[in-house]
Amino acid sequence: MTDITNQSLSEIIDNIKTKRISSTDLTKAYIKNIESAKKLNAFVTTTFDQALDKAKQFDAKPNFDQLLPGIPLAVKDLFCTENTKTTAGSNILNNFIPTYESTVTKNLWDSGSFLLGKLNCDEFAMGSSNETSYFGNVINPVKDQLVPGGSSGGSSSALAADLTPATIGTDTGGSIRQPASFTGTVGLKPTYGLCSRWGIVAFASSLDQAGPMTKTIKDCSIMLEAMSGFDKKDSTSINKKKEQYSKNLKNNIKGLKIGIPKEYRVDNMPKEIDELWKKGKKILKDLGAQLIDISLPHTKYALPTYYIVAPAEASSNLARYDGVRYGYRSKKGKDLIEMYENTRSEGFGDEVKRRILIGTYVLSSGYYDAYYLKAQKVRNLIKKDFDDNFLKVDAILTPSTPSSAFKIGEKTNDPVSMYLNDIFTVPVNLAGLPALSLPAGLDKQGLPLGLQLIGKALDEQKILNIGYAFEKNCAFKNKIKKWW
Ligand code: GLN
Repeated sequence: MTDITNQSLSEIIDNIKTKRISSTDLTKAYIKNIESAKKLNAFVTTTFDQALDKAKQFDAKPNFDQLLPGIPLAVKDLFCTENTKTTAGSNILNNFIPTYESTVTKNLWDSGSFLLGKLNCDEFAMGSSNETSYFGNVINPVKDQLVPGGSSGGSSSALAADLTPATIGTDTGGSIRQPASFTGTVGLKPTYGLCSRWGIVAFASSLDQAGPMTKTIKDCSIMLEAMSGFDKKDSTSINKKKEQYSKNLKNNIKGLKIGIPKEYRVDNMPKEIDELWKKGKKILKDLGAQLIDISLPHTKYALPTYYIVAPAEASSNLARYDGVRYGYRSKKGKDLIEMYENTRSEGFGDEVKRRILIGTYVLSSGYYDAYYLKAQKVRNLIKKDFDDNFLKVDAILTPSTPSSAFKIGEKTNDPVSMYLNDIFTVPVNLAGLPALSLPAGLDKQGLPLGLQLIGKALDEQKILNIGYAFEKNCAFKNKIKKWW
């Protein structure tokens, strides 16, 4: 058999079901790849022995009716995994071993899969390049010296390098879609509340959402189906019937109305992004969709609004890391207050400290009304822009990012230029909507670029269907030559 690990998840599932490969051999193939890809630094922890045990158990008593039968999966190290270290990319959680399993990972395991390892990410998911991780930066398998995007950079790198058949990330402001776009893979941020947040290390609770990262749209629908669902342990979880996204995947998009917002451009945006957008519009039009020019006038306020709301919530969520209950504790300090201070100052990295400072400032008395409250109002206007337009269109097409993957170190000394990379992804988080990043083409240097499809709340099936039709007609194939 040709190398199984460069197949899509759905092809691998077929091979498992027809017994052309056992779960054990599949797992061994991934372990081999992971062991020879240390340069990418995609993994923080591996769980090979446990994975091989689970694979053996599956092979001894296979259940082929499950969504993910005998499939090994690596996941972002932001999901708590019972008895397996969960670091969130931070020194402060370097020794944290949860006694519980996140709902999303539990859903995946209940669908027949098992853990292969935990993937590197920006510290507390704060970043766009995976350079803020305590465990070092991750490398983009597309090309040495490039970032894999962030914060789910270990996830995008591992997926694109065939170190896991599919994976999951979290997206607070773009952390699934941007790394997917930088690595030529598919990434979906679901509607806020579709996937449980229980057991995910919190960054900004009103924005955080888990979602799949995969090689194909079909794989994305399988993963979403497995991981989503109501959870009474998350008070913001949506109580609705589970959807069968993979079974209902259709590629007929005739008559669908696709909105093209005039605001999704930035100064000095590479011409290639515009061309990619044009190519995307043409493909959808040729498939029978109707393109409609729309306006989302408050888009320009989305980035500043996000960089008030997200740090505000982060400063509150991260107050729990005090060295007392769990995680790292500094040995320095003569009293309790000094222990708190030293723990936080040694445990958190610079980007996390920056967010805590901004967040504390915008929530402080005297500034709360001018920043936090104002941002909440603007957030409503951004959501209303989408609501108004979704009366006229079925989905919205935009570029995923204003650039292709940038060089390691290129933006680390300029946080604002780093934040600007999120300009096309954050509005969706503020509005709580689902959005899919689709691999759509390459730039002049041969680096992948993505297009974003934004849907109405809970309309994941529709954007998956559009993505499915797009994928079949876009003639994009992610070819990564192994150099590591
Ligand atoms: N890059 C954004 C940030 O640093 C988004 C991160 C994310 O979605 N987790 O806040």
